[in-house]
Amino acid sequence: MASSDLDMSIDEERNQLLMREKMMQLGGHLVLKEDEELANTKLMALKKAELMQAMETQNFPPSMHFFQAKSLIEKSEVFKILKKMPKGAALHLHDFGILSMDWLVKNATYRPHCHFCFTPRGALQFKFAHPTPPTPAPAECSEWILLEKYRKGLQNVTEFDNSLLRNFTLVTENPDVAYADQNVIWSKFEAIFFTISGLVHYAPVFRDYVFRSLEEFYEDNVQYVELRAMLFPVYELNGTLHDRAWSVRTYKEVASVFAKKHPGFIGIKIIYSDHRFKNASLIMESVRTALELRAMFPRTVAGFDLVGHEDTGYSLYDYKEALMIPFSRGVKLPYFFHAGETDWQGTSIDRNLLDALLLNSTRIGHGFALTKHPAVWAASWKKDIPIEVCPISNQVLKLVSDLRNHPAAVLMAMGYPMVISSDDPAIFGAKGLSYDFYEAFMGIGGLTADLRTLKQLAMNSIKYSVLGQREKTAAMASWEERWDKFVVDVARGPQ
Ligand SMILES: [Zn+2]
Repeated sequence: MASSDLDMSIDEERNQLLMREKMMQLGGHLVLKEDEELANTKLMALKKAELMQAMETQNFPPSMHFFQAKSLIEKSEVFKILKKMPKGAALHLHDFGILSMDWLVKNATYRPHCHFCFTPRGALQFKFAHPTPPTPAPAECSEWILLEKYRKGLQNVTEFDNSLLRNFTLVTENPDVAYADQNVIWSKFEAIFFTISGLVHYAPVFRDYVFRSLEEFYEDNVQYVELRAMLFPVYELNGTLHDRAWSVRTYKEVASVFAKKHPGFIGIKIIYSDHRFKNASLIMESVRTALELRAMFPRTVAGFDLVGHEDTGYSLYDYKEALMIPFSRGVKLPYFFHAGETDWQGTSIDRNLLDALLLNSTRIGHGFALTKHPAVWAASWKKDIPIEVCPISNQVLKLVSDLRNHPAAVLMAMGYPMVISSDDPAIFGAKGLSYDFYEAFMGIGGLTADLRTLKQLAMNSIKYSVLGQREKTAAMASWEERWDKFVVDVARGPQ
């Protein structure tokens, strides 16, 4: 064989391999229409330019901590396009981590009758009450202070409001120093939910919080939301408490009012969630509650999940008996387990992925450890169980630092079913889905991911939602209309 023949065959084989990998990539088999091809060419030129520049400067937002990368991301032309892109649905979100915390500070804490107290470690708690102050003051907290009065006595209210904001998010200038390890950051993370609890569970704030959250996602071109909610009691000014059914009903009502005012918005569904630190008998209770709520609101309550720091909580296997209740009763309770949100391979927690599969989880939250479990991976792929990838959350909570090394890179390259979501964007200083899409598209997908990948991710979010078949068809049609417009905008836009 002459050397030029050898060159030829290597080049051919090389191209064949590249083509095979391109087809395997998430969305690789999609055939783009003419306008989409044009939009893709423009998008990829921008992407390539940004990546090339990053290779030169060694300043690449996905390889930096999000708190430091955020302002750089906002300057990116690719990010601006991703913001405009119709992203479909957000399938992995938690009830009170989804609306910019500015709103809680500037709106909720400025409402009348807001009281607060300090714990010795400088943490805060809030409670609305009138005409008498809330009683009793919680253990380990100062006396209740009326916030309106307190602000009047301050010289610098802005500084105080900024300090509130710092208490409501994880954002800090030097996260590697502030958060030495996963336990430290998880305890601050949980503390934030505790701090804002008295604000968001006040009925008027609760309603507005839900409405404003939907608005923030809608503005980010998200049309539908599935929310993990713990459904803690919501209270009125006079102390009256509402039950879980009230909260579900309110989510439903607010979403329907919102849908009337916002064309193309599809709605909200609730995944009832409990904490994975409770003992098995309490989780048994929660599973029964989930079944009851689903019977009461079959179109709104989608199923059940367990939340909280996986490494330090109980495993799914510990809850086997509770989680088998629906099967043993012959009723269906869809599960949406967080599983594999860990770096500790081979531990009982790491095995949550096995049990999520065996318990027929509809989707898997994070599935960060999935690539370490080839048998689970193969079986869940066969069953078409998608993972919900939340890049910024995984980075901030210290599972991975450089998002180019996120395990979803392997799964994306192989075309494993996945959706992108943002977990608790407000707590990470992000908003909507766009920042996470940026990290996924630029960092996890690298230069290989193109408009096909993005289109597949958006379509996946509807495909793997729990909308009914007819709702799904309508949602897909509505998304497609927006997608076509977006594509024309990008294709005909400047550049
Ligand atoms: Zn989560």
